[in-house]
Amino acid sequence: MLIFQKISTLRLYLNEQRRKGLSIGFVPTMGALHQGHLSLLETAQKESDCTVCSIFVNPNQFNNPDDLLKYPRMIEKDVNLLKNNCDVLFYPSEKEMYPQQVVLTFDFKHLDQIMEGASRQGHFSGVATVVSKLLHFVEPDIAFFGQKDLQQCFIIQQLVKDLSFFTTIRVCPTIRETDGLAMSSRNVRLNDIDRKNATNLYQNLKIAQNLIQKQENNPLEVKKIILQNFQELEKINIRLDYFEIVDMEDFKILSDLPIHGTFIAICIAAYVRDIR
Ligand code: AMP
Repeated sequence: MLIFQKISTLRLYLNEQRRKGLSIGFVPTMGALHQGHLSLLETAQKESDCTVCSIFVNPNQFNNPDDLLKYPRMIEKDVNLLKNNCDVLFYPSEKEMYPQQVVLTFDFKHLDQIMEGASRQGHFSGVATVVSKLLHFVEPDIAFFGQKDLQQCFIIQQLVKDLSFFTTIRVCPTIRETDGLAMSSRNVRLNDIDRKNATNLYQNLKIAQNLIQKQENNPLEVKKIILQNFQELEKINIRLDYFEIVDMEDFKILSDLPIHGTFIAICIAAYVRDIR
């Protein structure tokens, strides 16, 4: 695996690969890698000739300075994990990514007015900025993103469409721990008790799924039930950020019973103590 910290050397190398006729697959990450990231890389390796992973904790997408400060960073461990899972690691400094302060902001209208967008002001504008830069640097044929961050997938698909990037976006399934908790870099910050309690997020997703499948409760009633469950969970330091059921066609919040065949997603975000 080759490691590049400079945009110029990364581009020189990737241009050479393209001249040889090789396709480029790209997995952008913020590091503290786990099986979820590795599954994206595995798919990338299957679908492209040269797999590029980037690690950059993007300050531009954090609206909470404490979250940025405490975000896990473990580059040596990451490099070891990546050795057999990709061809190129791009690991730029903050100065390399942001030689000057960014003035441009993005507005994705209804796509970022709900859920993550509503509770993390400016988050998706920061994500769109860094992903645009990375797509310019890497010029991948395919870029791979995790469905765990479903709203991010919609935002990036819109970005790529609106700005005519020559990259196909591939959305990959969420990888979970055996007890159902979605793998996440922030999980390393959970102590044993918090980690056990965190499975309540998955359990409530399953409760909502069952209720929806029975077709007895409309999405608003389901939401009420889940909100009540989370009120109880406040006793064990779990605080719901949001719970929504969205239509996968247009990413709008669903309030009526889904018509048979509608593809929906049940989305949840919560804090376990101060860890989101
Ligand atoms: P992050 O490092 O958290 O910015 O994530 C980098 C990429 O990995 C994003 O596209 C995430 O959606 C994806 N990802 C993170 N966790 C998982 C997971 N548990 N399963 C699948 N993809 C994931």
